[in-house]
Amino acid sequence: MKSKLNIKDKFNKELPADPNTANTRRQVKEACYSFVTPKQTEKPEMLHVSPEMINNIGLTSEDATSKEFLNTFTGNAVLPNTNPYAMCYGGHQFGNWAGQLGDGRAINLCEVEHNDKNWALQLKGAGETPYSRTADGLAVLRSSIREYLCSEAMHHLGVPTTRALSLALSGDKVLRDVMYDGNPDFEKGAIVCRTAESFIRFGNFEIFASRGDTKTLKTLVDYTIKHHFSHLGKPSKETYLAFFKEVANRSLEMVTHWQRVGFVHGVMNTDNLSILGLTIDYGPYGWLEGYDHDWTPNTTDKQFKRYRYGTQPQIVLWNLLQLANALFPLIENADALEKILHQYREDESIAYTNMMRSKLGLKNKAESDEELIKDLERILQLTETDMTIFFRKLADLKKLEYNKGLDIIAQSFYEPYDLKDPVVKENWEKWFKAYGEKLLVEPLNDENRKIEMNKVNPKYVLRNYMAQLAIDDADSGDYKLIDELFQLLKKPYDEQPENEKWFAKRPEWARSKVGCSMLSCSS
Ligand code: AMP
Ligand code: MG
Repeated sequence: MKSKLNIKDKFNKELPADPNTANTRRQVKEACYSFVTPKQTEKPEMLHVSPEMINNIGLTSEDATSKEFLNTFTGNAVLPNTNPYAMCYGGHQFGNWAGQLGDGRAINLCEVEHNDKNWALQLKGAGETPYSRTADGLAVLRSSIREYLCSEAMHHLGVPTTRALSLALSGDKVLRDVMYDGNPDFEKGAIVCRTAESFIRFGNFEIFASRGDTKTLKTLVDYTIKHHFSHLGKPSKETYLAFFKEVANRSLEMVTHWQRVGFVHGVMNTDNLSILGLTIDYGPYGWLEGYDHDWTPNTTDKQFKRYRYGTQPQIVLWNLLQLANALFPLIENADALEKILHQYREDESIAYTNMMRSKLGLKNKAESDEELIKDLERILQLTETDMTIFFRKLADLKKLEYNKGLDIIAQSFYEPYDLKDPVVKENWEKWFKAYGEKLLVEPLNDENRKIEMNKVNPKYVLRNYMAQLAIDDADSGDYKLIDELFQLLKKPYDEQPENEKWFAKRPEWARSKVGCSMLSCSS
């Protein structure tokens, strides 16, 4: 297997390393990473591999059945001529500067080039690093299943994201207090090998800026541009501004996709925002079931709901402001940076409206679209209405039959009797009339509009309870559902008649079950 991997390490070859190679927790200065060896595990067992990702890095599914593959991607064997490392970064957590964070339980194995793409391979949960602070560097099976399934599902939804190569049991037990209520328990340990062009985050830049270390900051920015934004050209103040602008654009694209599919990240701290605009760090994320701008899955954020669905695009802007501050010493032009941030605001509003237009199947732009969209968002929140089912069903509406709208979307109501509420009914009828009138002047016929809408409104997403069912089964040693969901979510926009049971509202039992609607950062 090793001979097949085209290993091309760059991050740990070109950037300054921490000279201390001991695996002790410490502040690491003037270095982008520390060398660290993954922990030996008790009894590793591969549970699932992503055939697509296997091929992306130049291997075959057969390679993935080898002992070498198992040992490499559970951290038990280090590939020859590679030097695993943990990255140094800082971050703003829930609005406050938190100082040095770093890869506390992620260990980068190496970078592989294949088909003109760079893949950094990173183990999550492979033991402690100099950045582990007070924690153990490990991950439990439940959070690993969630990351593994969701990152691949997001990719297939067309959302920029880190990917996942493999999911393995470590064979070790890990102690966790899931709800932080003084009831810790042992859980199965697991390791995901995740992959991305790069795992550099906003926080990688912030840490050097916070320490006044402009030299290392510049080294890292130049490195990032050289390898990941090479089209921007040689380092200069203009190039740095163009870099910041592109990060803003990519982050906007990412978050607009999140809003489109109803994904709520849950912990949008600056250490969890990728410089490449990839969805990264799948922790207490969740999927909107009832459409609700105020919803967050993260119980740790219950009080202020900083990272609720409706504010995600604004939080990206807040995070970009922190990145702008971090890059300022290299650019020294506050006006130019502010201009880009202002532009984000404008672009965001346009991107959002266009995205919603696409969900509604509208091609002709009209000023009244915004009102139609705002109204829809308001009405969707009058009663609990399932976002995924609503938009999917809406595609069945016929131009000349907008008076049948409410019947068509009826399945998306959590309480069918809400339909009878005269206020709700009247609101919907008015909205369907406005929508129907718009459709009459639209170029697409009903059939083609449905095809277009079904390309942006997924039929299947990883509903919170679905992941939890796979987790419950896995906890008792049955891993079949992991594969079933993995296969289902490869084609989220397709009709899959044999999988219709997953096109359903969240069952009542999942409404307030831990892991389904309430998730903590414990993982
Ligand atoms: P998060 O917000 O979950 O992305 O994590 C914030 C920081 O905590 C990062 O530096 C993580 O590496 C670190 N961290 C989270 N869980 C653990 C763990 N079990 N062991 C060590 N570090 C951790
Ligand atoms: Mg993180």
